[in-house]
Amino acid sequence: MMQPAVSVPEDQPLTLATLPPGRVQKWLALGVVLASLAAFSITAGPLSTFQLRRIDAFVPAYGTAIFVNDLITAILLFNQSSLLRSRALVAMASGYLFAGLMVVPWLLTFPGLFTPGGLLGAGLQSTAWLSVLRYIGFPTFAIAYALLKDADPPERFWEGSVGATILSSVAITVAVVCAVTVLVIAGDAYLPPIAIDRVHFSTFWHYLAGCLILWNAVALILLWMIRRRSVLDLWLMVALCAYAIEIYLSAFVGPARFSAGWIAARIFGFLSSILVLSVLLYEITTLYTQLLRAVLSYRREREARLMTGDTVSASLAHEIKQPLTTILASANAGLNWLDRVEPDLDRAKDTLRRIVTAVHRTDAVIENVRANFKVRAQTRTSLNVDDVIQGALAVVRDRLQLHRIAVQADPDERLPRIMGEQIQLQQVLVNLMMNAIDSMAMKDGERVLSIRSEVDHSKYVMVSVKDTGKGLEPGATDWIFNPAFTTKADGMGMGLSICRSIIEAHEGRIWATAGEGRGAIFHFTVPVDPGSPSSR
Ligand code: ADP
Repeated sequence: MMQPAVSVPEDQPLTLATLPPGRVQKWLALGVVLASLAAFSITAGPLSTFQLRRIDAFVPAYGTAIFVNDLITAILLFNQSSLLRSRALVAMASGYLFAGLMVVPWLLTFPGLFTPGGLLGAGLQSTAWLSVLRYIGFPTFAIAYALLKDADPPERFWEGSVGATILSSVAITVAVVCAVTVLVIAGDAYLPPIAIDRVHFSTFWHYLAGCLILWNAVALILLWMIRRRSVLDLWLMVALCAYAIEIYLSAFVGPARFSAGWIAARIFGFLSSILVLSVLLYEITTLYTQLLRAVLSYRREREARLMTGDTVSASLAHEIKQPLTTILASANAGLNWLDRVEPDLDRAKDTLRRIVTAVHRTDAVIENVRANFKVRAQTRTSLNVDDVIQGALAVVRDRLQLHRIAVQADPDERLPRIMGEQIQLQQVLVNLMMNAIDSMAMKDGERVLSIRSEVDHSKYVMVSVKDTGKGLEPGATDWIFNPAFTTKADGMGMGLSICRSIIEAHEGRIWATAGEGRGAIFHFTVPVDPGSPSSR
């Protein structure tokens, strides 16, 4: 029967009690069941009655392993139940606690283990009946789990104290185990006989085992019918299969202690107890790793966002400082023209016009900076590098003329197109050009600004901005891109750091080298548009 695919609600924690099993999990579970059945059919053969030498350490080792496995599984499930506030999980955890604790009287009464007749002075039937009660108990708890889980979903989130419910469940389970032990041992003589002697077992045991297997089957069917089946449910089903095989082997194949069939039954018993525990541990470790990854990536994302915030404000301050200075100077000049005995209205009007232009520029700068940081990878388009260079040159043209700087920017027709955000890349170039102009303005002699573009490692286009200015200070290439590094009296040292943020967001690289002879060269790379032909 195919179960409808049900997704986990978003508000529910990711635990294996809520996660639906993946395809691999399902195949793995089926594989374990099939392998168990194959192993079962081999052990159920004629070899099963073969009597092995009695190894005294086997029973205590087996009992301790089951006790520890079931107890750890119970603890993990109680933990999950408190996390999910799930009554169903409390029932299943109690089931594991019961199964684990029942091993203790079984071991204590096992003939020949501590004393020849068993430690608690139990009769012949007690050990077998304690086993039977363990076989009854586990599927009963699984049935309770399945019924509670499929109850009205909001019912799972009960109001009472989780801790109190878990504590009372533990107390009741311990009390039941103690009561059952006392009753079985005290009533040994009155119990229907399972063992005739240490080697032979009654036919009653066969009927009883048949009923136990049916009880397991009921639990299995109810788990199968759970609507929102989880990883835990899947592996509980596999564990119940191993349980059923264990009971069958114990009753019909190798009831005599230390026969090959009896040992095989114990191995299946061990399998059923270790299965859910292994899956729990595996899933918990996997979920923990995923959680850790998610936390780390969230932290990185947050840092990147904070950086962007810092960068936006610093960038705004950097860009509007200059027009603000113009506005202040013009306003002062305007006041002076008006303060005269005969105010010069024409000149005052001129200064006001300059103020209006500067305000418009400030507004444009703010819009530009905002646009720069709003754009994301999906707004990148295929660009012609030369268009970007020409766009940037147009912005700085006046300043180039003012400082009598010659420009060399020969377009390379064969360059592939690049993938990028035009305004951002233009901003990078404007920044590099402005720095170059500032550097050359301080120095006499030939003033040339050269812009070159070329293919870099076939996947990138490299743009270089070279000047004939004062050059970089020794070692400056290492820290020049750090925020707040500036050598200018009115500089903020943000220009290059913003350039780096933009280029790195484009998956490119930016660096500086000393120019041959004098000046500095700034280079940056931007990825080639994969859809672009290598020559245009
Ligand atoms: P700012 O322009 O505010 O000073 P930048 O980040 O643009 O900040 O530049 C940082 C520093 O790098 C400048 O102060 C300057 O010392 C140096 N620099 C940048 N470009 C050049 C260049 N082309 N030539 C020489 N020095 C440069």
